[in-house]
Amino acid sequence: MLEGKKAIVTGATAGIGKAIALTLAEAGADVAVFGTNSERGQKVVDEIKSKTSREAFFVSADVSSTQEVQESVNQVVEKFGSVDILVNNAGIVKDGLLMRMSEADWDRVIDVNLKSVFNMSKAVLRTMMKARSGRIINISSVIGLTGNAGQVNYAASKSGIIGVTKSLAKELASRNIFVNCVAPGFVDTGMTDTLGDNLKEEILKAIPMKRIGTPEEIAQVALFLAGNGANYITGQVLPVDGGMTM
Ligand code: NAD
Repeated sequence: MLEGKKAIVTGATAGIGKAIALTLAEAGADVAVFGTNSERGQKVVDEIKSKTSREAFFVSADVSSTQEVQESVNQVVEKFGSVDILVNNAGIVKDGLLMRMSEADWDRVIDVNLKSVFNMSKAVLRTMMKARSGRIINISSVIGLTGNAGQVNYAASKSGIIGVTKSLAKELASRNIFVNCVAPGFVDTGMTDTLGDNLKEEILKAIPMKRIGTPEEIAQVALFLAGNGANYITGQVLPVDGGMTM
């Protein structure tokens, strides 16, 4: 399905990003695994290579840094020759009520979750425009659609991603570059591991399917948006949330 395509997945050393990197490789793409933890990153690369016949390599980059991102994307273009698919997945939480949230926690979440999308998209655009084709898939969140007490920074970053997606989709549709968003609900990863059992039970009550999602279920939707099945879709937000936001 993605035979011969070259992909970058950010935050691909764990959770949803790791599942997306593996899924794209299983579908035939070569994958640059972006992350900050080289040990975990190398493990993902090894797993891709052992399970598929695709090329993969780890790129150490803090996606909030414009300079690091530019250098890292240059590295990928040098190695792969092009970038056909960019998945902006890296994200963090630093939760707290606004009254108590520090400026540093606000800034860090906006920089890692939202500025990264600006950094990465800008860095890959030249090669995508030259090829007159490309797919950018941004991982937002249902929190970007609904908001959540204790997450003003995270919600702002995830709503911001939706705004970037729609605007960039309008800028690039005529160039055959399509930009879409996946908005996961509650997914079983390191990010949700730390929530207490009581809070998890409360969240489950709000999910019509009455279960938490898996990283693979998010990865399948990213795969769909990267492939030919999504040839006439741009600027959209696809919630993958067990019915949470319907
Ligand atoms: P995770 O913590 O398991 O993985 C996050 C990844 O981002 C890790 O690989 C981490 O190393 C990387 N990362 C963090 N800061 C980075 C930086 N500065 N530069 C580069 N990489 C960095 O979390 P996850 O649940 O897999 O989250 C993946 C994405 O999905 C995030 O954007 C998150 O907001 C979003 N999301 C998750 C859920 C959920 O329930 N887990 C729900 C909605 C949206």
